[in-house]
Amino acid sequence: MKCKRCTDKAIVQLRSHNAAFCKPCFVFFFQRTVERAIAREHMFARDERVLVAVSGGKDSLALWDVLVDLGYETEGLYLGLGIGAYSSASEQKARAFAEKRGLPLQVVPLDETEDGLGIPAVAAATRRPPCSACGTFKRHHFDRAAFEGGFPVLATGHNLDDEAARLLGNVLHWQVPYLAKQQPVLVPTHPRFARKVRPLFRTSELESATYAFLRGIDYVVEECPNSHGATQLVYKDILNRLEHSMPGSKLAFVIDFLSRGQPLFASAPEADLRECERCGMPATGDLCGYCRLVAEVGRRHAQAVAHS
Ligand code: SF4
Ligand SMILES: [Zn+2]
Ligand SMILES: [Zn+2]
Repeated sequence: MKCKRCTDKAIVQLRSHNAAFCKPCFVFFFQRTVERAIAREHMFARDERVLVAVSGGKDSLALWDVLVDLGYETEGLYLGLGIGAYSSASEQKARAFAEKRGLPLQVVPLDETEDGLGIPAVAAATRRPPCSACGTFKRHHFDRAAFEGGFPVLATGHNLDDEAARLLGNVLHWQVPYLAKQQPVLVPTHPRFARKVRPLFRTSELESATYAFLRGIDYVVEECPNSHGATQLVYKDILNRLEHSMPGSKLAFVIDFLSRGQPLFASAPEADLRECERCGMPATGDLCGYCRLVAEVGRRHAQAVAHS
């Protein structure tokens, strides 16, 4: 098997691209794919500071590595979710990555913020699935850190597999408002929001794992314990089987949706946003989703004390 680019011995085969690459050419291919995604989708300009949300996993660290290599000014943001050994291991990987490269990393441990609530505590108090609470908390703290740090752009490491699984879920349930918002670039709908971008939306999980390995990135391999049994994984499994029989299906599903399907949904009306009375971040009602959830935890705790 020969490298498609230089004809040296290939070490990676990408059936979805009908190509194989040697190590330097794969690194080049991966970085160029990300660079083109940023340029084509107008994600951010050379002079814009980018806040990169890192989880300690392969995708977000690979993304940070590429952005630094491409010369962008970046800062990492790690959210300590308080999920036991998984959180400790992932924080250590994120910190080690930043320290080794001399990059700035902001660490926000949720249980040490003013509300003092990690994900397990919120999930237990509200009896919500942990991932639902986690999504609300992540969105809030990412938005807030970008706003307070004056970052015009917030980048996350969602890859092609994430995007394809999300699309499948949204289509299966005809989630029109979500389909309207499923784009690699979300333009801010309020001055306190940053532009949210997903520069890895064209690169697969396999490609980011290969990139991280070839670049010597030490990432947390274990998945979050709450991800087991998640619907996303069922969708990913189905898509992987499809990909196995028909290489390139995942990429075509996402790219064709973005070019032909998504514009048909994009006119779904946006809710009017005001500022949350409690935290000042954008909200559809008096309180933002995060503050409503924190208030619910407070109410549940008060009820538990009253009944004890
Ligand atoms: S699996 Fe769920 S709880 Fe774990 S990090 Fe992801 S969204 Fe959060
Ligand atoms: Zn090569
Ligand atoms: Zn709020």
